[in-house]
Amino acid sequence: MFYIGNHLSASKGYEAMGKQAVKLGGNVFAFFTRNPRGGQAKEIKQEDVEKYLAYAKEHEFGKLVAHAPYTMNLCAAKEDIRNFSREMLADDMRRMEYTPGNYYNFHPGSHVGQGAEAGIELVADALNSVLEKEQSTTVLLETMAGKGSEVGRNFEELREIIDRVELKEKLGVCFDTCHVWDGGYDIVNDLDGVLTEFDKVIGLERLCAVHFNDSMNDLGSHKDRHQKIGEGKIGLEAMKRVTLHPVLAGKPFILETPNDDEGYAKEIAMIKEWTQE
Ligand code: FE
Ligand code: FE
Ligand code: ZN
Repeated sequence: MFYIGNHLSASKGYEAMGKQAVKLGGNVFAFFTRNPRGGQAKEIKQEDVEKYLAYAKEHEFGKLVAHAPYTMNLCAAKEDIRNFSREMLADDMRRMEYTPGNYYNFHPGSHVGQGAEAGIELVADALNSVLEKEQSTTVLLETMAGKGSEVGRNFEELREIIDRVELKEKLGVCFDTCHVWDGGYDIVNDLDGVLTEFDKVIGLERLCAVHFNDSMNDLGSHKDRHQKIGEGKIGLEAMKRVTLHPVLAGKPFILETPNDDEGYAKEIAMIKEWTQE
């Protein structure tokens, strides 16, 4: 089964997102657990969740890839931001249990001058204080482009975070194609080599989901500007090879491309066609 979808607005609830995903031709989706720029999370309604779960079963949805808000920075230099971020993470973990067994993806954060090593420690500390044995959610660290002081700019940094977390079985990685390319991994000329490197450093068993984006910039640019599939520097052929790579088969592919609904529907249809050829 190939799972494809995009980021949807959570404002109307889970069932509405499920229906929107199907309307766009998808069978999975991503959403921000709260306003991506911060603020209060919406109350979750049990009735909406139940309707969604039935709908998702009927339409054979893949695992959802919820996204933490961008304001969450577990390794911020300021303690109040770190505390606020931890509380947000803990609250999101509780909320995720309404829809058990899905993914929650977050950006490890920005160390803002403290250095990568300090950032790695802080992220791991936060995960150790929040993750619980009983939770059914797998928390995904996203591969980052290495813009500014981002932590997780290479596979080694993600591995170092994982190494320091006690409940490792609750952790996975979300492979963002734009970010790894911008981070200097040549998925155009050597996709096999990049995935082999991922396996060596992190282990492919941790690769849970894909953020499927083309990039506006060159290999190793550390810019993080997403582009529509086939219209960027990664290009159509390389993007197609990613969707067909056996190591990534069955993982949820989430589009984060600059599109409106019509654009997403087109991309989803195109990608589905590749996987059915
Ligand atoms: Fe992200
Ligand atoms: Fe992403
Ligand atoms: Zn990005």
